[in-house]
Amino acid sequence: MSELSGTFLEKSTIKAADLEHRRKINFNIGKYNAVVPQGKSQFSDVHLARERAKNVKWKAIETLDQQLESFEAAITKRGAKVIWAENGEQANAEILKICKEKMCRVIVKSKSMVTEEIHLNDFLEKNRIESVETDLGEYIQQLDGEPPYHIVTPAMHKSKEDVARLFTDKLGTDPKLTPEQLTLVAREKLREKYVQAEIGITGANFIIADIGGIAVTENEGNGRLSCSMPKTHIVVVGIEKVIPSMTDLALFWPLLATYGTGQRITVYNTIVTGPKQEGEFDGPEEMYVILLDNGRTNILANEKARESLYCIRCGACLNACPVYKNIGGHTYATAYSGPIGAVITPQLKQMKDWKHLSYASSLCGNCTEVCAVKINLHELLLENRHEAVEEGDSAFAEKIAWKMWKQGMLRRSWMNMANGNTKGWLINTLMTGWKKHRGELDFPKLSFNEQWRKKNKQ
Ligand code: SF4
Repeated sequence: MSELSGTFLEKSTIKAADLEHRRKINFNIGKYNAVVPQGKSQFSDVHLARERAKNVKWKAIETLDQQLESFEAAITKRGAKVIWAENGEQANAEILKICKEKMCRVIVKSKSMVTEEIHLNDFLEKNRIESVETDLGEYIQQLDGEPPYHIVTPAMHKSKEDVARLFTDKLGTDPKLTPEQLTLVAREKLREKYVQAEIGITGANFIIADIGGIAVTENEGNGRLSCSMPKTHIVVVGIEKVIPSMTDLALFWPLLATYGTGQRITVYNTIVTGPKQEGEFDGPEEMYVILLDNGRTNILANEKARESLYCIRCGACLNACPVYKNIGGHTYATAYSGPIGAVITPQLKQMKDWKHLSYASSLCGNCTEVCAVKINLHELLLENRHEAVEEGDSAFAEKIAWKMWKQGMLRRSWMNMANGNTKGWLINTLMTGWKKHRGELDFPKLSFNEQWRKKNKQ
């Protein structure tokens, strides 16, 4: 068992027994479940909408090179600079280079999972640049020194009392403040940062190939401020976020809103096609788009796993997953948690180190059932397991166990050899991992085969 896998098991065991954690998660996911049907009601046929979205993403991913080149050509014409980064280190180094050029000390940042993936905030802090999260949930997490817990709702595991306590500890506010008052405190603090920041960093929900734009979806207006107030705007985005045309947003915006938060449409939807143009008064003077690979082309090359690149990060599969709801987002120890995280993390990183995430599933198929773009998530989890075995990444004990099982299955006489107490003793002694959280297995004295024969003889 790898160190990561061992830590994952330990943390999961603790979290799964934490009833207060479960109560908070169930409460927050319950609120999500209550509103999603309202969002869905805007579609005359929501299954067809999801199917169409899947087809659009299929086309985008199958022609990824052309789509990205078209994006680059169009946005470059409007004065933006496109940087291709093979990995997180390259992306961070490019950002630092821009920061040095602009003599930047403060950055305002809107919510972006891809910057979590490359650990941008830690990197900037080491280089003495203050990077302030401006999404309220992310701001709360940053105050608490924690990474986001969920890809859409970063502070989902915190109650309003937890947030009030945190603000008192870190900002000295009255512990009795209401959520509205706490929001105003955060707003006041953040407004100052917008004035100080030399650079704004955002992610992008979509890269729009035909017009050369990026689309940012958010509910607080902080994303729009982050890309328009500072003099320089940097976008960091994974290359798989591409859609072929701006008209595709008519489908993707409502779909993302519905499956992400149960809204019909998210409050702020912004399309940015470059820096401020001649004669325009608002917007940044310079814009950079960092197109990040960081393992995505490995997924592209893998015919079966490729489908996972269709993901629009709506978070619905996390909310539906019985494992996620019990062990929580931080236990995964990676930027992307839940079913989609369990599918892509072993592919983006090392299969041998991260394959345990693909085993953290009951394979109930609920994730596939709710996925906004109909990714066959539970089948991809099985594919990862298959790949791990093919690569020889499974443990020695597991290999031996399966060999023995196969031999037993191929021989009826072996299967019948030791029933009742003997088989029970053998299995219960060998399978210590199974017994840890379950009762002992109890085998009948005769196997089904023996009982059948006996019955027919009579
Ligand atoms: S895999 Fe599907 S459900 Fe999960 S975050 Fe991505 S689009 Fe949403």
